[in-house]
This record gives sequence, C-alpha cells and structure tokens, in this order.
Amino acid sequence: MPQYDVLVIGGGASGLRAAIAAKRAGASVAVLSKVHPLRTNSALSPGGLNAPLGNDDSAEKFAQDIRNAGDGLCDTEAVNILAADAAREVVWLERVGVPFNRNAEGRIDCRPLGSSSVSRAAYADDRTGHMVLHVLHEQFQREDIPCFAERFVTSLIQDGGVCTGAVALGHRSGQLETFGAGAVILATGGATQLYRPCTSAVGTTGDGLMLAHDLGVGLVDLEMVQFHPTVYSAARTALISEAALGAGAKLVNAAGDKLVNAGGLSRAQLAAEVHKAGQNGGGPVSLDLRPVDNLASRFPAAAEVVRLMAGIDITKDPVPVQPVAHRPMGGIEANAAGETSVAGLYAVGECAHNGLNGAGRLPGNTLTEAVVFGRRVGEAAAAHAKSAGAADAGGSQAAQDGERLAEITSGGTSGDTIGAVHRELGELMNANLGVSRTDAGLAEAQDKIRALRERHAALRVNNKSRIYNYALAGYIELGNLLKLAEATALAARGRAESRGAHLRSDHPEKDDSNWKAHTVVRSQDGSPKLDTRAVSA
Ligand SMILES: Cc1cc2nc3c(=O)[nH]c(=O)nc-3n(C[C@H](O)[C@H](O)[C@H](O)COP(=O)(O)OP(=O)(O)OC[C@H]3O[C@@H](n4cnc5c(N)ncnc54)[C@H](O)[C@@H]3O)c2cc1C
Repeated sequence: MPQYDVLVIGGGASGLRAAIAAKRAGASVAVLSKVHPLRTNSALSPGGLNAPLGNDDSAEKFAQDIRNAGDGLCDTEAVNILAADAAREVVWLERVGVPFNRNAEGRIDCRPLGSSSVSRAAYADDRTGHMVLHVLHEQFQREDIPCFAERFVTSLIQDGGVCTGAVALGHRSGQLETFGAGAVILATGGATQLYRPCTSAVGTTGDGLMLAHDLGVGLVDLEMVQFHPTVYSAARTALISEAALGAGAKLVNAAGDKLVNAGGLSRAQLAAEVHKAGQNGGGPVSLDLRPVDNLASRFPAAAEVVRLMAGIDITKDPVPVQPVAHRPMGGIEANAAGETSVAGLYAVGECAHNGLNGAGRLPGNTLTEAVVFGRRVGEAAAAHAKSAGAADAGGSQAAQDGERLAEITSGGTSGDTIGAVHRELGELMNANLGVSRTDAGLAEAQDKIRALRERHAALRVNNKSRIYNYALAGYIELGNLLKLAEATALAARGRAESRGAHLRSDHPEKDDSNWKAHTVVRSQDGSPKLDTRAVSA
C-alpha cells in the first residue's frame, strides 16, 4: 500500500499549493484528484486575486473589507491571516511565473472588483485562474510530487479517532486502492453542482464535505451560497467578471436604463437587485459592456465565450444576465491551520470553512484563500505527520467500499436516471434555496429532497465495469449532493433572518441578538442535526 506523510485530496489551486508547501517542509506527499489538476474549477476564475499591493491599500483596509462582506460572521484569526499574507503569496506567484498585468510604473496592476474599497485584484487579463493554476502545476511538478489523477476518493480511513488515509477508485484501472498517510488534506472544492444552472465545473459535488461529515466533522454555514450577479445563462453559463462593472460596464433594464449603481454593493446585494428587477416585470436585465475602454483586449475570454455561446458581440450589444449559483461560503469546520475535529484530517480551499468568508465572500478572495491557506495548511499537515509518525491504514475500508460499489452496479432499474434526479435537485435548489427564501419554500424543499433521496437509493447502475464507469462516480456524487442539500435546507430554515447571502423574504431583517452565530450541521444517528456556534472575535 502506498504510504505518505501527507495525502492531499484535490488538485486545484488549494491542493497544489498545500502539496508544494508540505513537500518543501520535508514531508513525503502525494495528490489524488478525480480530474487532471489543469481541468479543475480553479482554472475558471477570470477576475483576479486580492492582495493589498497598492500605495492606497493596507492589510488593515483589506481586513475591514473582508469583514464588511462577511456581514458579522467572519472569524477574526482567518481574516487577519489572509490580509497579512496575501501580498507575499501574490508576489511569490509573480516570481514563479504568473504573467500579471502591469501598471504604468511596471508594478503588478490591481483592478477594482466587487465591493472592495480600493483596486485590489491582481489579474492576468481575464484568464487569472488559468494562469495561476498552470504556474502552480509547474511548481508542483518541479517538486516531483506524485499525482494520482483520475482517482475518485470513495472514503476516508479512520483508526482510533485518527484519519490514516483514503480509499480511491482508479478510473483507468477499475481498482480500489488504499493510500495510507500521517495526515490527509481535503482540498476537494465546492458543491455548486447542487444548483442548476450554476457557474462551476461538473466535479464540484461536495464529495469532500460528505467524506468529512461521515467521520462526524461539522459542516458550517451551509445556507450561505453566493450567487454571481452577471452570468449569461442559457443551455450553458458564461460568467462575466464583475471587474467589468469596475471598468465602466452597466447593468441595464429592458429599456436600456441603468438599473443600479454597482459601486460599493456586495455581491449578495447586487445579485438581489438583479433578481428583484427580473421578478418585477421590468424585463430581462443585461450587462452593457460598451462603455469599457479597450473592451475586447481587456476582457478577451468573456468576448470569445459570449460570442460562441450566445452569438453576441459584446462590443456591439448588451448581454442578458441573471444571478446564478456560484460559490458556497459554508464548508468543513476547520481552524485557520486547517485542522478539523478528527486528528490528522485537514481541510482547505473552497471545501473548507475556516471562518474567513462569513456570510459573504469578497470577490477575488477565493484564489487568494487557496494559496494563502494552502501553504499554511500544507505546512501544518507536514508538521503533524512528522510528529505522529506512520499510521496503519489497513485494508478493510477498501473491502467495504468494494461491496458498496458492487451493490450500486447490480443493475436492474429502468425509467428513472441519475441525470433526471440531479436535474430536479438543481431546479429545486434554485427555486427554493435561491437568491430569496421563505420558510414554506424551505419546508417544501426538505420534503422534496427526501423524495429525491429515496429515488436515488432505488437507482442502480447497469454497467458493472469499474473502468471509466462515470455513471458509477456520478451515482456517488449525486448521493453526496442529496445529503448536502438536506443539510443545507436544514441550516437555511433554521436561520430565521436575512444576512449576507441568505435572504429570507419572511425574515427580511438581520437579527444579531439570535443569529450572529455560525450554523453547524453534524451527522447524528445517520441524520443531519442543526446546532450553532459563536463567531470568534
Ligand atoms: C466561473 C468561476 C469564476 C471564478 N472567478 C474567480 C475569481 O475571479 N477570483 C477568485 O478568487 N475566485 C474565483 N472563482 C472561485 C475559484 O476559482 C475557486 O473557488 C477556487 O479555485 C477553488 O479552488 P480549490 O482548489 O479549493 O477547488 P477546485 O479547484 O474545485 O479543486 C478541487 C479538486 O478536488 C478534486 N476532487 C473533488 N472531489 C474528489 C474526490 N471525490 N476524489 C478525488 N478528487 C476529488 C477535484 O478533482 C479537484 O482536483 C471562480 C469560480 C468559478 C467557477
């Protein structure tokens, strides 16, 4: 059985950064990923990553902007770490090869993004995530870290309360493999595939959240789901970075009149404005990019994608947009070092909740979060693994997983499909847990999610092969999404107030006396139970 000091599950920006840091801290490291690292969600980010690099900026200003966006639910330690470390990480990325745009003085240029009080997003045209990921991958390869791609992790191994490894299905071999480790880092990304439509890559199915949940780790603030306000959405979605708004683009109604002054509004507030305008019979909302100087050269990827998908030339016509589910703020309960309640198990990046994002994430912070906390969590896991020594992962978990896979592929169902259940779940989440929620809608969602879970349990995959059997992986992913949907609806129903990304039309006010707290969902006797925990000052 392969044995490493640190096993990183996930090859996006946060997983690669953690792996590089753990290796440089002297640990033996391996990465498991269900897709090739260069095909992860991290590649999609156009807007930029925040760092206080300008003369008009400081770590204190940055921290204040994060707290404002987080609307009372940010934990101080994580905020201060990000604000203090961001510049160093962005400069490191620049030194190792990210071609950031430069200003007239030859320094890294920063542009306005979202509700930041100053221009703070370092960017590489509108292909920032793509560039960052490629450069991280190059550094990762230089460290000669083994990458087991196309490995779908089916479970974590726990021995005496300690996480000692993971079991993964190799798509190519069709075999279940056990990987032993002194520390395991979950860097598995988000769960936005809960929604349809959504902006995120197909693999963002919350697997890591459910792997942790199954070991008893809490899931925090699941009800906080960020909707992106400027997304073209038809058969597929094309996100146009809010950097365009900062550069002069306007949100307009059907008559072409400016809808709102976007400056200073949080992403949640903007999404709510666009949602409201769409509901009020004012016709479709569009993003008019024509006022942006040098539009085609500043937003080349948006120009190309919108032309291909919608047949719209952004230099000539406005683009219809709507708020679309983008990124969860909630995730696996972890501290700023990534430690969870299970010894040896760490979480980082979009799958983790370390207290940074509160009820609303500052646009441009996710990539920064991935690299800042990726480094710290990689170093912490390496230190833990060295002090804990080698652990025995055993082989019994793989045998159990094998029985589960055999049951799933036992065939015999007809009519219903994984695709149909997933589509209905996504549409339900959008309708009842979308930009605006009510108690009645959430109660209805809970009933319907239960019914979808029953349909999923009755489904079987007809193809018995385990080699490149994406239906089998899709079945497990959908199971994860359904359990997560149940937990998310529970948390959203519990939080009877409006705050950040959680807008309750039946409780429109913020209620600090009862709800300036995190929601925490834990598995108890197989069912999700809701609890709360104080925000740490
Ligand atoms: C359209 C779009 C635009 C964005 N724009 C910006 C922006 O401008 N600025 C910004 O800061 N952020 C932006 N973001 C957010 C940012 O891209 C992501 O949140 C961030 O990159 C997440 O990185 P990650 O490493 O945590 O996860 P991911 O990049 O999602 O990587 C997750 C990894 O986990 C693996 N994995 C998952 N489950 C399993 C499993 N069961 N077994 C094995 N491997 C598994 C995946 O294969 C993948 O390797 C944007 C996101 C999207 C979708």
